[in-house]
Amino acid sequence: MSVSQYNFDGRQLAEHLLAATTREWRALSSPPASPHLAIVQVGDHDASNVYIRRKIRACEKVGFRASRHVFATDVSQVTLLDHVQSLNDDPDVTGILIQLPLPPSLNTSELIKQIDSGKDVDGMTPTRLGALVTGSFHLLPCTTAAILALLSLNQIELCGKSICMIGASALVGKPTALALIHHHATVTICHSETRDLAACIRDADIVIVAIGNPNVIQAEWIQPETIVIDVGINRCADGKIIGDVPARAIVDKGAFVTPVPGGVGPLTVASLVRNLWLLYREQQEMD
Ligand code: NAD
Repeated sequence: MSVSQYNFDGRQLAEHLLAATTREWRALSSPPASPHLAIVQVGDHDASNVYIRRKIRACEKVGFRASRHVFATDVSQVTLLDHVQSLNDDPDVTGILIQLPLPPSLNTSELIKQIDSGKDVDGMTPTRLGALVTGSFHLLPCTTAAILALLSLNQIELCGKSICMIGASALVGKPTALALIHHHATVTICHSETRDLAACIRDADIVIVAIGNPNVIQAEWIQPETIVIDVGINRCADGKIIGDVPARAIVDKGAFVTPVPGGVGPLTVASLVRNLWLLYREQQEMD
């Protein structure tokens, strides 16, 4: 692979973001208790355990606190709603995160709705997502924030650019497309029913892929010089983690692509810590 003109080392960029947050936190003179992230987990899913450990480690690195609230897979919706409410009411809790995915027996959107938007560290409540539509947002969903950070830390101009967002989920695709529009990009959103994905990709300056399938995007669809942000995380039969795009073939075509692992993922964790800090400051201003 040729050397990229961009720094897409998500681990290094994440350290940069965490260091900036540490500096701002330490600059507070006589601060009250440190920001506190409460993570609600249902079940004992291996991947969730890994992600949660990373989130806790990142919080602790900055000097923030994190607590884990673990429930069995057969927990009732009512028990979880009550627990989220108790976290809403606890003045010691700054931000609340429900680790997804939840078992299908639970109503995820009802649980997310239960989070007080003032403590919504992932920016997923209807109030926070609505603010993204109107442009009055203060924090972005973590993966969207990570993608935007990756672009801005590389001084990649968005104004007037043609961006193809592949994947239209409420978690990644839709909020990312909205955030990019606020930066005056022209965004095409593609999904599983899009008729001619190749044609949508062909004219894009930047392609962002978040579908969760490594067998869809073909390297020949990507033009030289295109910037490809790979959000996908797929576990192969041998346990290896790969993204949604054929990175090597894309780079060989003269385009640029973020790595998986080590690209958007670490920056998403750092963005979560950043969001906790933004919530903390919001709450301090309200006191
Ligand atoms: P999702 O399943 O909720 O949504 C997938 C989207 O992709 C849908 O809009 C669907 O229509 C679209 N899609 C599926 N097949 C397609 C196809 N053949 N052509 C075009 N579009 C297609 O998934 P999600 O939660 O948005 O996550 C997507 C991927 O991103 C997953 O691999 C997930 O693990 C990963 N992810 C990574 C991070 C990170 O921090 N790196 C964060 C969140 C999600």
